[in-house]
Amino acid sequence: MTTYIVLLGPPGAGKGTQAEVISDRLKLAHISSGDIFRENLKNETDLGKLAQGYMNRGELVPDDVTIAMIRERLTRPDCAQGAVLDGFPRTPAQATALDGMLKELGGTVRCVPYINVPSEVLVSRLSGRWTCQQGHVYHVVFNPPQVAGKCDVDGLELYQREDDQPATVERRIRVYLEQTSPLIEYYRERGLLREVDGTQAIDQVTADLLAAIQKG
Ligand code: AMP
Repeated sequence: MTTYIVLLGPPGAGKGTQAEVISDRLKLAHISSGDIFRENLKNETDLGKLAQGYMNRGELVPDDVTIAMIRERLTRPDCAQGAVLDGFPRTPAQATALDGMLKELGGTVRCVPYINVPSEVLVSRLSGRWTCQQGHVYHVVFNPPQVAGKCDVDGLELYQREDDQPATVERRIRVYLEQTSPLIEYYRERGLLREVDGTQAIDQVTADLLAAIQKG
């Protein structure tokens, strides 16, 4: 049976960090829409060029483009057992499209852990965030790397994402509140939402997420 898990939460809630650990523990693919866009940007593909302006402004890439990208990703062999979706869906149209895509693949969303972090905490979290080219994420205060400026996993140089600049961070939080937060109700109504306190220590958030997923 395939297991599809949607990780929901505002930018800066720790979705990327948690999705990495959870997909590893559950032996599922990790699909991060943001990472796929960044990869395309780095490789200067047509998709990357299209996404760049939206990303730098902290806005969402249009639904049709994003949905087509995820549709293709979900059919790859590493998703045979299912996937942890991190950053997708982000709009009601994307959530409906996901339901349709999974139906075609013979699956459904199994549960939607929602990492809840109040807006005022998010700004400081995002502006202290550093990442490596492979997408491993650190924070100068809350989750520093062992060696300053270097990734613990692959030793790559850490850099600050362009969209983690303060003005863009505020825009991203606003976009989340306006366009993505309606998904909380969407999944609650379907009995799939599992709320987890994202202000706890990273390991505790992981433990709570795994417990929520195990309960189904
Ligand atoms: P993230 O790394 O998830 O914060 O994503 C970084 C940026 O990529 C976002 O601010 C958007 O511009 C774009 N992006 C990622 N996922 C989506 C999505 N599901 N829909 C639209 N745009 C997205």
